[in-house]
Amino acid sequence: MKTRVSIAALVILDICLFLWAFAPKRYLIVNFLDVGQGDCAVIRTPSGKVILIDAGPKTRSKDAGMRVVLPFLRSKGINRIDAILITHPDEDHFGGALSLIEKEPVGELWLSGISTQNQDYAQLLQNASTKSIKVRELHEGDRLDFHDGVSSEILNPSEDLRVSHNNGSIVMLLKYGATSFMLTGDEEKGAEEHTIQDFANLKADVIKVAHHGSKSSSTEELLSAVTPAVGIISVGAHNVYGHPHPDVLKRLENHHIKALRTDQFGEIEATSNGFEIAFHTALRR
Ligand SMILES: [Zn+2]
Repeated sequence: MKTRVSIAALVILDICLFLWAFAPKRYLIVNFLDVGQGDCAVIRTPSGKVILIDAGPKTRSKDAGMRVVLPFLRSKGINRIDAILITHPDEDHFGGALSLIEKEPVGELWLSGISTQNQDYAQLLQNASTKSIKVRELHEGDRLDFHDGVSSEILNPSEDLRVSHNNGSIVMLLKYGATSFMLTGDEEKGAEEHTIQDFANLKADVIKVAHHGSKSSSTEELLSAVTPAVGIISVGAHNVYGHPHPDVLKRLENHHIKALRTDQFGEIEATSNGFEIAFHTALRR
């Protein structure tokens, strides 16, 4: 009897493996764009939903929205953005969104709810309203289902952190099958401590290293809780802030986390099949 059950189980396993091998491959792809000193990650789900986490910086002379993000979207044949999530209202994260919502249809704008005096941010909200783009606030504990087995949990901001720009960053744990990404905005030690306290399981394969590798983020405690294999550092070459800080690079190294920096590798593409994540970088070091 036992043997018959085992053989049946093996046959079922074989059929499953056969079906899996020949099933169309479905990928979650996250591109960390090289926007200089700022952040922009483009998430594409298996069925083609497009979600931006931040949109890069906009300065007087450089607009990452026009210069980097839009050409990237065009190169992938994308002509609609389902949602733009702005982790917090700092120019190096939301600046590029101003031109994106002018040039592309955008479904929703997801915000941390933190107020700011920044004129450009006010303009972004005004333009979103003019274009009837749905605005939604995301807070700790919210869950978003992107379908196709892709889901996310919002880890921050908690209620008492919705005053500070950096510590009020929206932090997302993005999951696809057995793989996961932690997208951290510019959160610092205070928010990291909060998250560790509030969530039992923070494990992620990839972490977007918070605040461009600033010393005040990526604490030992957070790295021990998340245990990522890869840390993406979105940072401008020779930036005036000295990001990433050598202490952070050392911490990553001590935790055996492979650092991939946009100033060294250019755009970084992470492709998950639900079991493992493959990386491809625009430049080789
Ligand atoms: Zn920043």
